[in-house]
Amino acid sequence: MSLEKQLQDRSNHQCELCNSTDSLSIYEVPPTSNANIDNCIYVCNECKSQIEKTEQLNPEHWKVLSDTMWSESPAVQVVAWRMLSRLRNEGWASDNLDILYLDEENLEWAKKTGDHENEGTVEFHQDSNGARLYEGDTVVLIKTLDVKGSSLSAKLGTVVKNIRLVHDNVEQIEGKVEGQTIVILTKYLRKG
Ligand SMILES: [Zn+2]
Repeated sequence: MSLEKQLQDRSNHQCELCNSTDSLSIYEVPPTSNANIDNCIYVCNECKSQIEKTEQLNPEHWKVLSDTMWSESPAVQVVAWRMLSRLRNEGWASDNLDILYLDEENLEWAKKTGDHENEGTVEFHQDSNGARLYEGDTVVLIKTLDVKGSSLSAKLGTVVKNIRLVHDNVEQIEGKVEGQTIVILTKYLRKG
């Protein structure tokens, strides 16, 4: 029987973390070398993208962990523990973390990603409307900006192509205006 079939049987065709039945797929709980029924879980896209930090953490989405963390599958317990750790600033999450008991071996596994030590939230560059920005995007200035140390003024409505994201600051991007590379605050632009 295929791994996916085994997971479908175990999960009853539901996300093992949030019970959703939409766009389910296999998530290998890291670190894994050989995927098998014991180190994989069946999850929906919404859970997966937040687990893998390609989307922002949405605390509301995870409240259902209060129920699903009681799964008999250690792999589900481990991921529930990691997500609760990332959400530990939420009262309900830290309460659940207090009562979610993992045996020694599974607790060691759960800690391997460092999610219990690191900042749980992930932030992305967003324009003034909250739309996600990506490398190479085209944006439009929504305010006239005076560029420090130059006579250049980037006018409202200026189109800036092929932006670069400033990696250690989600509030800044870089782009060329009149041939000059400048740093622009994301709150002063929208996606073009
Ligand atoms: Zn889910």
